[in-house]
Amino acid sequence: MHYLDHNATSPLRPEALSAVTHALSVGGNPTSVHSYGRAARAIMEDAREKIAALAGAKPAQVIFTSGATESCHLALFGAAEGSLAEDQTRITRIFISAIEHKAIAANADKLAERFPWIRVTVLPVTADGVLDTEALRVALREGKGRALVAVMAANNEIGTIQPIAQASRLVHEAGGLLLVDAVPAAGKIDLDFSLCDYMVLSGHKMGGPIGSAALIIADGAPLAQQLGGGGHQRGLRAGSENLSGIAGFGAAAHALADGAGERARIAHLRDHFEAALKAAIPDAVIFGENVPRLCSTSGFAIPGVSAATALMSLDLDGVAMSSGSTCSSGKISVSTVLAAMGVDDALAQCALRASFGWSSTMEDVNAAVASLVKLRERAKNKVAA
Ligand code: PLP
Repeated sequence: MHYLDHNATSPLRPEALSAVTHALSVGGNPTSVHSYGRAARAIMEDAREKIAALAGAKPAQVIFTSGATESCHLALFGAAEGSLAEDQTRITRIFISAIEHKAIAANADKLAERFPWIRVTVLPVTADGVLDTEALRVALREGKGRALVAVMAANNEIGTIQPIAQASRLVHEAGGLLLVDAVPAAGKIDLDFSLCDYMVLSGHKMGGPIGSAALIIADGAPLAQQLGGGGHQRGLRAGSENLSGIAGFGAAAHALADGAGERARIAHLRDHFEAALKAAIPDAVIFGENVPRLCSTSGFAIPGVSAATALMSLDLDGVAMSSGSTCSSGKISVSTVLAAMGVDDALAQCALRASFGWSSTMEDVNAAVASLVKLRERAKNKVAA
């Protein structure tokens, strides 16, 4: 099997697997005061430190959740509700980039339904898939009340790296709050939490287990608990923590902490994939090709070959890829990211994503290119027949 779908989920790293099994063997609830509980807490706090280090944050700022979707929900709803506290300024405006994941976009819409004084505005991106910071600057000047702005660190479908430092400056000069979904970017580029008020990370996108994620929150940023229950995690996220998931997440984050070598290796594979694809299929389109992208991600299209057909054919050849965001899997609809970039509908129907990670090899790349070339030949012959 040639697995090129790391942005959907990255296979469990060996370090993460052993951390998971160790945590399972320790057992214990981190909130218990007895020795089992203390051992569990030590594992959890060790993981918290490693995850904080990857994001450039303090361990106490890390809140564990069940997944990035929950983290996005907690950040949006928690910030809006928390901003109603007496010592806070009410959030009335939410700005999200047009290429945010549904975990942000759909929850922002739900939030506006719950809190009628909140208006959600979608900010445009350039044809290369990068936030239009001038549009952000203008948007922040309009309207009253505090703004919460969501900009992902890099896009999950095409890998374009977003101007977080610039967005941070604009948002903070306007007295707003910045929420950064760093799910696909973590471990692929350096993260600097000091630029943000909220940051979302996910274990399974970096070789940890599914069901382990974090919301990192800046000191003093508003956040109200969303799940009622116990006083876990400073009262901000109730519920017994998923110890084994957290342990695996921490181990994966630690493996990436000094990740320059791994990044260079992955970038080499991605570059080789794109060069070989374009050499064999000159009209192949690489999305976001002209701007800095994550080393792990190649969003591309072969004109005339639909993504639905390609995914099936690749799968028969033992190559696993994805079309657009797999979180809406089972259904292939035109990517909102490509639509926001102004990509023509017919080409967007052909959009695929190859995403590379720690387990990817040159054999995977060669198998993927060979399969795509074969597919293109078949499509051409069909048209000629
Ligand atoms: N944010 C981004 C950028 C993602 O790519 C994903 C999943 O693909 C999510 C959030 C949601 O993650 P999960 O489905 O693990 O909750």
